[in-house]
Amino acid sequence: MAKQKNVYFFGEGKTEGDARMKDVLGGKGANLAEMTNLGIPVPPGFTISTGVCAAYYQNKEHYPQGIKEEVEINLKKLEQVMKKRLGDPDDPLLVSVRSGAAVSMPGMMDTILNLGMNDRAVKGLAGKTGNLRFAWDAYRRFIQMYGDVVMGVEHELFEEALTAAKKSKNVELDTGLAAADLEKLVGEYKKIVRKSKSKDFPQDPLEQLWGAINAVFGSWMNERAIKYRQLNDIRNLKGTAVTVQTMVFGNFGEDSGTGVCFSRDPSTGKNEFYGEYLMNAQGEDVVAGIRTPEQISALEKEDPAIYKQLVGIKNRLEKHFRDMQDLEFTVQQGKLFLLQTRNGKRAGSAAVKCAVDMVAEGLISKETAILRVTPGHLDQLLHPMIDPGAQKLAKSITKGLNASPGAASGKIVFSAKEAEIWHERGEKVLLVRKETSPEDIGGMVVSQGVLTSTGGMTSHAAVVARGMGTPCVAGAKGVTVQGNTTAIIGDKTFKEGDWITIDGSTGDVYEGQLPLVAPNISKDVNTFLKWCDEVRNKAIRGKIKGFDIRTNADQPEDAKRAFDFGAQGIGLCRTEHMFFDKEKLIHFRSMIVAETEEERKEQLKKILPLQQKDFFGIFKAMEGRPVTIRLLDPPLHEFVPHTKEEIDELAAHLNVSSDSLLPKIERLAEANPMLGHRGCRLAVTYPEIYDMQVEAIAQASVECVKQKLPVNVEIMIPIVVTARELKLLKPNAEKVLEKIFGEAGVKVPVKIGTMIEVPRAALRSAHIAKYADFFSFGTNDLTQMTFGFSRDDVTSFLPTYLQKNVLDVDPFKSIDQDGVGGLVELAIREGRSVKPDLKIGICGEHGGDPVSIDFFFRAGLSYVSCSPFRVPLARLAGAQAVINNAGKNIKGGESAKTGKPTAAKVIGSNKPAKGEKKMAVTSAKPAAKKPAAKKPAAKKPAAKKPAAKKPAAKKPAAKKPAAKKPAAKKPAAAKKPAAKKPAAKKPAAK
Ligand code: PEP
Ligand code: MG
Repeated sequence: MAKQKNVYFFGEGKTEGDARMKDVLGGKGANLAEMTNLGIPVPPGFTISTGVCAAYYQNKEHYPQGIKEEVEINLKKLEQVMKKRLGDPDDPLLVSVRSGAAVSMPGMMDTILNLGMNDRAVKGLAGKTGNLRFAWDAYRRFIQMYGDVVMGVEHELFEEALTAAKKSKNVELDTGLAAADLEKLVGEYKKIVRKSKSKDFPQDPLEQLWGAINAVFGSWMNERAIKYRQLNDIRNLKGTAVTVQTMVFGNFGEDSGTGVCFSRDPSTGKNEFYGEYLMNAQGEDVVAGIRTPEQISALEKEDPAIYKQLVGIKNRLEKHFRDMQDLEFTVQQGKLFLLQTRNGKRAGSAAVKCAVDMVAEGLISKETAILRVTPGHLDQLLHPMIDPGAQKLAKSITKGLNASPGAASGKIVFSAKEAEIWHERGEKVLLVRKETSPEDIGGMVVSQGVLTSTGGMTSHAAVVARGMGTPCVAGAKGVTVQGNTTAIIGDKTFKEGDWITIDGSTGDVYEGQLPLVAPNISKDVNTFLKWCDEVRNKAIRGKIKGFDIRTNADQPEDAKRAFDFGAQGIGLCRTEHMFFDKEKLIHFRSMIVAETEEERKEQLKKILPLQQKDFFGIFKAMEGRPVTIRLLDPPLHEFVPHTKEEIDELAAHLNVSSDSLLPKIERLAEANPMLGHRGCRLAVTYPEIYDMQVEAIAQASVECVKQKLPVNVEIMIPIVVTARELKLLKPNAEKVLEKIFGEAGVKVPVKIGTMIEVPRAALRSAHIAKYADFFSFGTNDLTQMTFGFSRDDVTSFLPTYLQKNVLDVDPFKSIDQDGVGGLVELAIREGRSVKPDLKIGICGEHGGDPVSIDFFFRAGLSYVSCSPFRVPLARLAGAQAVINNAGKNIKGGESAKTGKPTAAKVIGSNKPAKGEKKMAVTSAKPAAKKPAAKKPAAKKPAAKKPAAKKPAAKKPAAKKPAAKKPAAKKPAAAKKPAAKKPAAKKPAAK
């Protein structure tokens, strides 16, 4: 067997890797090799593969055999190329040791710089460079970094010694310390190491090298790296590679410097060279935000030749990689070196602009553009902005850099830990810090926004916040953080818990809580989303054409917003939500406490016109696109008045005594309402309820016809468990429709379908399909009932399940493909075995989750339906599913996991239940009767401006089991303020 290669050299024509080898060399190692191949100046080095990291962990933190020798052979090679030796007392080679996985995880793993320094090498370096100060500075930086990262000495101890040294010399910056001061500081640092670790700082360069390699491999499993991978759903990576590279120095003097730049602006996406640099500094000075850097444009004046060379390289790299590049460079005594290039992380608006521009420039195809923008990017674009009216009147109290777009309001907290504690209590927090570091990630995730007093656009706070889509204002000089208790912002002192608002798009900071509104969608976003629609509309899976995005909306204004966001129909109108309105609620309550059918019908008469008006508003807003109206679903109990005031109000309305209502209210209580008198069970017992709703739908449709407005209605019956429920209820509905349409002399085709949200319904779907014109999966209930996890109480144990890896993801957020998904596939297969053209969608919350959307596409669903604010994201995720699954021959009715057609087979008994007709579920017999409804108008979604106000996304229906607890689905609790970044906010979930 050929010996496994573990170490890959790059530099001086001896390059062994290239950009395609990210899995082996990590992103950094692969691109360093690629740049070397392209003849771009890169300091030589070698990369130890990710496979070594994997083997190291598989083998209880021991390296595979032969690795030491391979590293040392490559070190020799490097020494020959550089004509220097590690630890040489006359002319020492110094190296950096860096991490780099196949997917970039900025700042999450460790890096060591200036390795090779020791008591002898410092003199060699001083002699060779003729710069004593530089040599001692390099040595003290090395001890500080190595001591902290490799040896585990407390970072603060070094900081204290450095601050004391600066104080004794009365200087503010490190650069104010002379060679002798730094030499003294090195002595102090060595004492610190000895005292805290009871051993001396290692002088042997090889020992140093292996210490650093161990630390970098070790950092793959540090807490923040694990958390980052969880948060970003980064899985199945082998590990990190380790790159050992010749050091070049940006702190050699005024003809040296270092910087980070982007080939396009990462905040806006504009095709403008963007970046920052610092002369006479090392890379960590720029990233840590210790000194505020210069704009890259200033380099043109400061060193025109270097600037020109850098511009040439960034243009070349962008063309080569066909994507926006994020570059790290160092200038050492007038010579430019590239230390890294990678595809740049970008804000949502920038992602869309880059994608659209690059298609126009002929750099990439539309398909590539669609894959370049993540659903998270689009989500960012829907983040609230400060209400323009309020912003005009408000006075900015200070301004920093507009590091990550979007506006945020929150209560000030000064530490990441406090942020997490306050967030747990349900508070909205805004993290205010001097600067952030990777340890702060947990606090940043739960914060509405981040404000820092130091650091530039490439500081940790800026880069991480942008990646997470969290608004951030960085480097705000008018902010002075005073310990963990107060901060002076502008000229006022703020304490923990005080409200502030930041605008990450302008850099402004405001006192108090300003109102936020949903942003406008730009022309580029509309262009981009239309490309997504084209891709989805063209998708063909067997008999299913297109892959539509509908919305869950139950008020005309929500429907309008969703329409403006590009929804192709309404997949779920929860009619019980229509009664959250106080005016309607009293009638509804009167209806449910009615003692007799007559009384109930009397109350229903009062509700009918109110429902009719809402239905008409929704039909009008949707301009002829399909509108699926679900008939009442909630347990009646949830609408029962609970408090004394509510009972008194209802009694007054009904002109009866409060006491007389109590026995009825008591009777309505259920021990387990989720499994109680809800959904179509209500109509089996009280048919007049659904009759009234169907009449309201019919009357609203008649009104549309009279006003010459297009209407396309689908009626959906929930919580069905047996075909016999539909057999009973469908004719009832048809009778009402016929009567109303007959009286009005109009014809409106109406489909009547059902939800599949109970496991039994999925298992019996071949039978149910006979009576249903369409299916829609209610994956919220289907998940609840398949897992047996109460959807309202799951937070008491689910976080622990995720933390202990009992489950990978929250099944209420991302569909459980194996279990619940298996039922979905079964029901599709069975349903279509009876009606091959059966239209099937999904309207549970999973309809807005990108991973679930991919599954639903593969499973063969005709559409997904999600909340209005998630529609743009779903339009994109749907298109990505089409592109990513191209060539898989998906027909709808085969396994979404394997993509292989599966024979229709019935799980459990195929014996018809009593009253269900026997059906040959294995045959693809067409439906006895074809539904009369016409195909929905194939209009393209209009790219209109979204409604400006109302940032709040609606909370998914929280159906609370309730005998002992107050019902959660209370009207007042139904609308929740803007649910910020649902995906990113829950670290454990991904
Ligand atoms: C579902 O169960 O997935 C569904 C859409 O219905 P609801 O959330 O209203 O129960
Ligand atoms: Mg449901």
